[in-house]
Amino acid sequence: MLEFRQVHKSYATPQGPLQVLDGIDLRLDAGESLALMGESGSGKSTLLHLAAGLDLPDTGEVTVAGQAVSSLDEPARARLRRDTLGLVFQQFHLVPSLNVGDNLRLQARLARRDDVEWAAHLIERLGLAGMEKRYPEQLSGGQQQRLAIGRALAPRPALLLADEPTGNLDETSADEVLGLLLSLVSEVGSALLLVTHSHQVAAPLDRCLRLTHGRLDPVDEREASRR
Ligand code: ATP
Ligand code: MG
Repeated sequence: MLEFRQVHKSYATPQGPLQVLDGIDLRLDAGESLALMGESGSGKSTLLHLAAGLDLPDTGEVTVAGQAVSSLDEPARARLRRDTLGLVFQQFHLVPSLNVGDNLRLQARLARRDDVEWAAHLIERLGLAGMEKRYPEQLSGGQQQRLAIGRALAPRPALLLADEPTGNLDETSADEVLGLLLSLVSEVGSALLLVTHSHQVAAPLDRCLRLTHGRLDPVDEREASRR
């Protein structure tokens, strides 16, 4: 589903190049869930951006659903994102001028007739029934993030990339939103790459890796059993 092979990534800074990823090897199979941990500035978002084809590695190869991302031009990468990936960020990135129903349906391009039922099911599952005509600014933070998660999962992406999706929420709604994310991911059958600072959040996932000094290290015995 997702593969990194000897991926290196640096940024140009006034002090010279900053090496952020220094030989990343990673394989995530279909339907698998992986928590990505690591200190602030360790490169977690950078790794997710590369996985989404929003940026390209300096060297090494990122493969998404069998396609080598570096070999695609930007329109092809945008198509790959649209057809294969769901993205959720710490900021909700909803379209302020679209109501709840349209944020879900239009953004996910749910147009086919059988999609109507799926969209209605999702709105129910998101706890947003009866709020379809509201605009994002009329929702709580937790409701906005639930909508963003529903929108990302509505097209049934093969892979969901989530970058600290509960980082902007208080503890209670963070737990709630995360529970919903995990349950929808398993309903849809997506693979999941989830950036989190919390061991509690990482616990129910299949795997957990930590990014340190540009490399991936296992966090607990879960990874050892794979080798
Ligand atoms: P956080 O937990 O705070 O979100 P992170 O692990 O996601 O951190 P990244 O955002 O990937 O970290 O950043 C990794 C390093 O690369 C940081 O030192 C950051 O300052 C630097 N960096 C990120 N983006 C750029 C950029 N566009 N130009 C220069 N440096 C960058
Ligand atoms: Mg980050």
